[in-house]
Amino acid sequence: MVVRKRLFLGLFLLFTFILMISLGFLAFFLARPEAPLFQYALYFFFVLVGLTALLSIFTLGLITISLLRGAPPAWLSRAVKKIIVFLFPLILQLGKILRITQDRVQSSFIGVNNKLVEAEKEIVTPHKMLILLPHCLQDEDCPHKITLDPYNCQRCGKCPIDSLLALAEKWQVNIQIATGGTLARRAVKKLRPQCVLAVACERDLSSGILDSAPLPVWGILNERPMGPCRNTMVSLGAIEEILKEILDSQGCP
Ligand code: SF4
Repeated sequence: MVVRKRLFLGLFLLFTFILMISLGFLAFFLARPEAPLFQYALYFFFVLVGLTALLSIFTLGLITISLLRGAPPAWLSRAVKKIIVFLFPLILQLGKILRITQDRVQSSFIGVNNKLVEAEKEIVTPHKMLILLPHCLQDEDCPHKITLDPYNCQRCGKCPIDSLLALAEKWQVNIQIATGGTLARRAVKKLRPQCVLAVACERDLSSGILDSAPLPVWGILNERPMGPCRNTMVSLGAIEEILKEILDSQGCP
């Protein structure tokens, strides 16, 4: 887990460093009066790169402080999340250039995101908590439609949906199963949770976290013993640990 977080933070640091170097080069060319043709374009890039560098330094600083000492005030946390939404695709591109797989960068980002959500120490009432699950957790041969209503599951125990419903009942939290981003967004819009615990693959989870910002989303990666999108699994222990952390002081269960 430590290595995962380091990868995203390392790429973020490298990205900021590259911006600073670019800023230095632009400043050097701007200081030479013999290139009037490109002067305005250079000024434009200088301002653009300068602003992005400032946002990066600000965000990186706040992420580090949050990881070491707890979350900053809520409004600042919200600002950080919005800036990450803007910078994340650029950091992903940097990872690509360095031949680091997207899965690894996304997984590292999810680790950092979880630590930031944890640092917020937000206490949530059970009815404001939503567990969002991917459809691929359902047994592929199961005939029951559980995306509209997860309780259509007949609780046969053939796939993890049965135990996940039991967990949701135990903690009295909302649970939804989504086939993709649109259904997931609809569930969030409908239930208006204060916090989401989402299970998915690296790509869906990182895009879901970014889409929902500044809503706090805990991300748990699914396990794919049969390959992607097919009879996937998830650690019930990991889900319950998070529920305990967020809901424990509510005295549930
Ligand atoms: S536990 Fe529910 S969803 Fe899974 S196979 Fe059985 S009936 Fe279908």
